[in-house]
Amino acid sequence: MNKIKIMSENLANKIAAGEVVEKCVSVIKELVENSIDAGSKNIKIELLECGIKEMKVTDDGTGMNSEDAKTAFLPHATSKLINEDDLFHISSLGFRGEALPSVASISEVTLKTSTGDVGTVVNIKGGVIQKIEAGDARVGTVVTVSNLFYNTPARLKHLGSLYSELANITNYIHKIALSHNNISFTLINDGKVLFETDGSGNQLKVIKEIYGLDTTKKMIEISASNDDYEINGYISMPEVTKSNRNHLITLVNGRVVRNTDLNRVINEAYHTYKPEDKYPIVVINIWVDPTLIDVNIHPTKMDIKFSKFEALKELIDTEIKSKLNSIRLIPKVEVKKEKTPVIQEQTLELEREESKAFKIEDDTSDYKASLILNKEEYDEPIKIEEDTKKIPEMYPVGLVKGTYIICQNELGMYMIDQHAAKERVNYEHYLRMLGNPKNDSIEMLFPITIEFPYNEFLIIKENLDILRNMNFTVEELGTNTLLFRAHPTWLPQGYEEAAIRKICDLITIKEKSFSVEKFNESIAIILSCKLAIKANENISHSEMETLIDSLRQCKNPYTCPHGRPTVIFYSNYELEKMFKRAM
Ligand code: ZN
Ligand code: ZN
Repeated sequence: MNKIKIMSENLANKIAAGEVVEKCVSVIKELVENSIDAGSKNIKIELLECGIKEMKVTDDGTGMNSEDAKTAFLPHATSKLINEDDLFHISSLGFRGEALPSVASISEVTLKTSTGDVGTVVNIKGGVIQKIEAGDARVGTVVTVSNLFYNTPARLKHLGSLYSELANITNYIHKIALSHNNISFTLINDGKVLFETDGSGNQLKVIKEIYGLDTTKKMIEISASNDDYEINGYISMPEVTKSNRNHLITLVNGRVVRNTDLNRVINEAYHTYKPEDKYPIVVINIWVDPTLIDVNIHPTKMDIKFSKFEALKELIDTEIKSKLNSIRLIPKVEVKKEKTPVIQEQTLELEREESKAFKIEDDTSDYKASLILNKEEYDEPIKIEEDTKKIPEMYPVGLVKGTYIICQNELGMYMIDQHAAKERVNYEHYLRMLGNPKNDSIEMLFPITIEFPYNEFLIIKENLDILRNMNFTVEELGTNTLLFRAHPTWLPQGYEEAAIRKICDLITIKEKSFSVEKFNESIAIILSCKLAIKANENISHSEMETLIDSLRQCKNPYTCPHGRPTVIFYSNYELEKMFKRAM
């Protein structure tokens, strides 16, 4: 039976509307996903000049008979979709197959394929079949696409630089390898292997191929479920961060999807564990009954809507927070083995190029990681031991530069940033206080009057309830002044006016979607910093002890509320290694 079916024109039009080949990666996507649907176990992607000269995809899938081979690159042929229902449920990977004719119309294509009998070789140029011959009987398909846009020079100009084309392809192959970890992918450019997975079905191994061994050691396994959703995957420890969201990867029923709401949920679960403008590496697999999702398949992306999103949000949020909360997150100083990493000549070349042309590209980090061929041995999937005590007991030895407290215990040596640590302690304290509606207030001996610019005064006047709910006694005085008679007890002595001004500042900039929790959190962060011991301030031995003690009581003692680390650990072994006492 022919595997390719001609689909209804109606559907074809629907799909073709958004169907454009824009970049080399569009072609690669098309070919690779066809290979996946053909049941391939090994898919090799070979590029010449980052794909601009030639792209070749070799698979060991079922192959096509000669009838299918002849129609594969003609319009409206697809083996994937028969009706719109399939589209809705993404029961197949999508409508790929439909773009093959588009690809063929703007390039030179050679298709070699066989189901095990005599094979077929088809040559197409500009969408017109040039030649059909018998080929060898190797089962599988090889498609070579060369000279993309040769007949549409105007579009050729729209291709990015060699490096951005390669970065896009690399990024795509990373994601497809994550979602299909039982298939082995090999990506080669100009004869050099850039990325290779073993198809063993182990997602963590794919993560290692993308990000390298050091990062993979810092990935934490997650797994949780509720009535509607099941999630599993890996999240990075907060010390591993990236400067963009591209490394928040979500898969739904095995397909990589993009969903800004999911990204927000993941990012917010890391709140105060990392700096605001940094993002973790996260790979989350979501499993759900397909009837609970609505998929909008677009040639360049796959967006998705969830019914019962709140349940999913809750599941992800709780699981990430509880994992971050349950493991020891003290960054550990590790002595690197003295060896130069194997960096291909090409990498250096690319990095040089990158500094010129690559600045605006999103995915340089992926891309670089893939070029550094990490040949280190890979052991067992990483399990991080859980420990209920977050920071072990430790004893201060002294203070360096009025800023870093040196501590020790039987495990090794610790450095604590006294400002960051105090900030964390303060932050959790204020958050607790702000969350407690039964705070007492104190009458001030000398009431505080604060004058505001009129526009700000109007906003604050409208929001006096916020201040009153916090247990301030406040009244209007004249046209632009507030009189504060009492303040909540937790407001630190000597800083009353400064603190009130900060709170009023926050009220004037409060967003439309005001939430008390977020507001309290902002206040807690601002006050925590303002009232923490500064760097370059010498504190006594007993003050150090008190600080360490309070830090150990914290829910998240590892970072300040801005996400900077509070403690760094040097194990005995690392110390000995550094001094070459241990080899
Ligand atoms: Zn600070
Ligand atoms: Zn801070």
